[in-house]
Amino acid sequence: MFTLPELPYGYDALEPYIDEQTMRLHHDNHHQTYVDKLNSALLETEFADKPLEEILQNLEIIPEDIRTTVRNNGGGHYNHSLFWKFMAPGAGGNPDGKVGEMINSSFGSFDAFKDKFAASAVSRFGSGWVWLIRVENGLEITSSPNQDSPLMNGITPLLGLDVWEHAYYLKYQYKRPDYVTAWWNVVNWSEVASRI
Ligand code: MN
Repeated sequence: MFTLPELPYGYDALEPYIDEQTMRLHHDNHHQTYVDKLNSALLETEFADKPLEEILQNLEIIPEDIRTTVRNNGGGHYNHSLFWKFMAPGAGGNPDGKVGEMINSSFGSFDAFKDKFAASAVSRFGSGWVWLIRVENGLEITSSPNQDSPLMNGITPLLGLDVWEHAYYLKYQYKRPDYVTAWWNVVNWSEVASRI
């Protein structure tokens, strides 16, 4: 059985950038629903007690009749469990240390990285995610539709942004670029540093 992780901070802790009502609905309803649907799909299968990472990296061995449900809801559970940790109150700013160095060497500068990441977030059509991942020569930005995750290709994401409308619509309506701009104020670079 998979369970909903607690938010590592209060629902209102990311105000004014991410509003309390969005955090409540996003965590307690959307994320909970992914967990519930994943559990019900895997109920009484041999995969019910397998680690989620193992399931998502081996979707081809999941029975076909539940594979899409497991992909969407398992991906949703995995991505959101990370997303809460990718944010923190009083965070944001410029990453220093190894993260800062790798961003500079991969993208030219922190501003150039932010521009490229935001462009990817805005151009992702419909629902999905934007990711910062590690590749052989440094860092790269990628995006995925729905609840797909780089983990499905064996890549553990370093940072990710949820660009589903449920993540921003209450406060930012159709203005996804404004949501992305605000999000930089809550990015938890120490979590990124611990994953790099
Ligand atoms: Mn979401």
